Amino acid sequence: MATLEFLGAAGTVTGSMHLVTAGERRVLLDCGLFQGLKALRLRNWDQRLADARHVDAVVLSHAHIDHSGYLPLLARQGFRGPIFCTAGTADLLGVVLPDAARLQQEDADRANRRGFSKHAPALPLYTPADAQAALGLVRPCDYDTAFPVTDGVTALLRQAGHILGSATVELDLEGTRLVFSGDLGRYDRPIVPDPAPVPAADVLLLESTYGNRSHPPGAEDDLARVVRDASQQGGVILVPAFAVDRTQELLWILHRLEQAGQVPALPVYIDSPMAIEVTEIYRRHPEDCDAEMAQALASGDRPLATKHLHIARTEQESRAINRVRGPAVIISASGMATGGRILHHLAQRLPDPRTTVLLVGFQAAGTRGRALEDGARELKMFGAMVAVHATVQRIDALSAHADVGEIMRWLGGFGHAPRAVYLVHGEPEGCGALAAAIRARYGWRVTAAADGQTVGL
Ligand SMILES: [Zn+2]
Repeated sequence: MATLEFLGAAGTVTGSMHLVTAGERRVLLDCGLFQGLKALRLRNWDQRLADARHVDAVVLSHAHIDHSGYLPLLARQGFRGPIFCTAGTADLLGVVLPDAARLQQEDADRANRRGFSKHAPALPLYTPADAQAALGLVRPCDYDTAFPVTDGVTALLRQAGHILGSATVELDLEGTRLVFSGDLGRYDRPIVPDPAPVPAADVLLLESTYGNRSHPPGAEDDLARVVRDASQQGGVILVPAFAVDRTQELLWILHRLEQAGQVPALPVYIDSPMAIEVTEIYRRHPEDCDAEMAQALASGDRPLATKHLHIARTEQESRAINRVRGPAVIISASGMATGGRILHHLAQRLPDPRTTVLLVGFQAAGTRGRALEDGARELKMFGAMVAVHATVQRIDALSAHADVGEIMRWLGGFGHAPRAVYLVHGEPEGCGALAAAIRARYGWRVTAAADGQTVGL
């Protein structure tokens, strides 16, 4: 009998990794890093698989690091099998995995310089060479075309509507159909198409990030208001944003608001070399974008650029932004302020009451982003406490994750009830609320996946 083991993203939103065993064959669905709470991050150092050499293949839902960032470790532990994903995801991995390796090296270097690691010397989780080894195993696949994964296992990737290249994964295990939602996107969002319906599943593995929230409409109006307010008070809007997708969507909306005259054309600083590369990858994949974006690209318009766009590639250019006086917008990674260049901007600007911190994505428990969202009056950064006098705003409607209503809408595409639904990629509140909603609406058997649990398929 085939089994499914939850190796991450069970009861939490990071570390997505699930092991499917069918006879002698072992396939990983996603291979992500834990982020957020220290207890979770420490788990990245655990060997999560008894023997990575015995995994036959990996199928990835998308390129976000909490779904892909463990791949270099898998390669280091001896995995040599194929990593299947869409062409868009493959291109994005070429940027995000080396970047993750570089960030880990920088963290280790900083800890060594300042002596705040308990380990001497602090070592990076993995190296650029490990990232390259993983990239050498990537096999791009088309959407909507079944392909063999290993003996007795085929897969089919469908549009998930979450970020460029994101897919839902259907695994056919000799008659048993396992569907994995990956991260499910939204309907009528800019740039990426809507999530495609999936006709049938015997077992469904479903994300539940926003299982307890409904995104309000009007993201553009909310963003316009934040930009106008900040520009009136002369402050800087500081946006922690994932370099993949969040940054591109913000640029798209700001571009449209500027063109419509709804906001002043402020200087916009993109302080993330990766965001710049990712934006180029979006431009190279019009076939993966929605009709409006594809048309804008074809017409020669630059839909992912604002009027006064400044790009910081080097560390010096990044530090030079510290001298910028408002009004201005600074977009930098990481999206939950767990690392990256956003940290030095926060450290410099949080004490200034004219600063607005704008949160545009899910902030996991234990991250600085969550602390800000929860109203923290001080934050620990670089080993010191920083006072928070900035205004913190949140625009949930900019999320790239389906809310409860949108998840329900996607579930409506299934032709019959799955035998079992396992909820992953959610904190307990989101997961519990979604389980209740699915039982009430569809009457399906729904269980919250437990960390380390193995279930029969
Ligand atoms: Zn994601």
